[in-house]
Amino acid sequence: MQISQLRQRLRALGANPAHEARVLRHWALAKPQDSGRRRNQHYLPQALREALPGIEAELAGLARLHSVHPGEDGSERLLLSLADGLLAESVLLPRDGLCISSQIGCAVGCRFCMTGRDGLQRQLSSGEMVAQVVQARARRPVKKVVFMGMGEPAHNLDAVLEAIQLLGHEGGIGHKQLVFSTVGDERAFDTLMTLGEGKAKPALALSLHTTQPELREQLLPRAPRLTPAELVARAEAYARATGYPVQYQWTLMDGVNDGPDEIEGLVALLSGTYGVLNLIPYNQVDGLPYRRPSWERAAEIARTLHRRGILTKLRQSAGQDVDGGCGQLRARVLAPHRR
Ligand code: SF4
Repeated sequence: MQISQLRQRLRALGANPAHEARVLRHWALAKPQDSGRRRNQHYLPQALREALPGIEAELAGLARLHSVHPGEDGSERLLLSLADGLLAESVLLPRDGLCISSQIGCAVGCRFCMTGRDGLQRQLSSGEMVAQVVQARARRPVKKVVFMGMGEPAHNLDAVLEAIQLLGHEGGIGHKQLVFSTVGDERAFDTLMTLGEGKAKPALALSLHTTQPELREQLLPRAPRLTPAELVARAEAYARATGYPVQYQWTLMDGVNDGPDEIEGLVALLSGTYGVLNLIPYNQVDGLPYRRPSWERAAEIARTLHRRGILTKLRQSAGQDVDGGCGQLRARVLAPHRR
């Protein structure tokens, strides 16, 4: 179910914008505190009141909790059963964050990513994305939602933006706390830049991974052919327009993108930009040739970059990895699941 279809159905049942918001808020906030709907039900049109139990059952069936896998740092991986039996994954992060999936599988095919190996299975609907938040909220408060789980949000752009609008309005998430993560895509940049007045504008995370165009083509073979310099220029324009810094994501792989050439490239590319570089030491995946660098090496790179004026964060715990890295969640989440 796409949220736009749900909105149309509510309107067809006689809902005005206030009724519609009340019903959607009750769903997305996932709390009975919307004395809301139950107590105010009699304010809804009769046709909507009568249809509501069926609609609520449909919404509840979008994603059901399948299993919960706690992490050592307080994160929790949630496996959710969708109506067609496929499993979607979300991760509850420390400090009220939630990482959600936008697709089952992914077509970008990054060489170092487990999800990329299997290609795209299907898109998630905007309803299924919000349903991940609803399920998470049944366990803990959620105040930040990052679209960094399975899938490339730019490849399911309309549905992701629908989910963002609902979460940023009826869903009670601050707009800056909604994070759109991408490998970089012209249409996504254009669309985000032209979101109109009153629309929720998310913060941007850009998966960079290298400053070298040829290496990027090798590592991300089906990502759009934008060079790292072009990507940073597009992201930077969005950051300046919204006032939200860009999160540049860098999965650090031993002997691949941890050398002095990349340090020089990063200093040249990111000096003076409005962003933060997240270094995420690679989480090794069985069957893939990439290796995690030593912690000392990663810390040295972070220190060097910091000294040279690049705001750099070295991510070290499971929740922080998820917070910082497309593909890393999938490596962590899927590897044990597939063994
Ligand atoms: Fe897709 Fe992200 Fe994996 Fe690349 S790292 S294949 S974009 S899920």
